Amino acid sequence: MELACLDLEGVLVPEIWINVAERTGIEALRLTTRDIPDYDQLMRRRLGLLDQHGLKLSDIQRVIADMGPVEGAHEFLDWLRKRFQVVILSDTFYEFAVPLMRQLGWPTLFCHRLEVVDDRVVNYVLRQVDGKRRAVRAFHALDFRVIAAGDSYNDTAMLAEAETGILFRPPQNVIDEFPQFPVARTFEELREQFRKASVRSL
Ligand SMILES: [Mg+2]
Repeated sequence: MELACLDLEGVLVPEIWINVAERTGIEALRLTTRDIPDYDQLMRRRLGLLDQHGLKLSDIQRVIADMGPVEGAHEFLDWLRKRFQVVILSDTFYEFAVPLMRQLGWPTLFCHRLEVVDDRVVNYVLRQVDGKRRAVRAFHALDFRVIAAGDSYNDTAMLAEAETGILFRPPQNVIDEFPQFPVARTFEELREQFRKASVRSL
């Protein structure tokens, strides 16, 4: 049996924090795992900035509600789900992802959650550390072959753990540091990479 694991932001939906930065004008919120590979360091910084600027969860949810999936993502996901069981492995939070999952037809999503008090984001709770890699390991223990795709630093452990890891629209620094992974720049190229990686003819 084959399972497809997909990253969310940068693959199916735009980067949530970049959109929040653009709407709020808080430039420092533009930083992503592409810039700071240490996820805890990045999140502490983001939560500090929200606090400093008095941004509430509902402010961020309003921005996210206006974001759609990236063009072609819904069609790609439908194509993939007809051929694989698909699990989205993301470092986002359920509180952020709900409006986007609705637009994508409620695919399975493993991610993290936020601690919120009176609409203020006070902390984040990782489901587990190194969750993307450990999910792939767990799927292996269930005898799945795994083909995974993601765009960034926080995906590379998942891509390495999978039978095939594919980079989708990655920044140049990730391509340079991880030349072992094939690169897809369009959803058609990504479909082709999944076809190539599969042991079945799709
Ligand atoms: Mg991503």
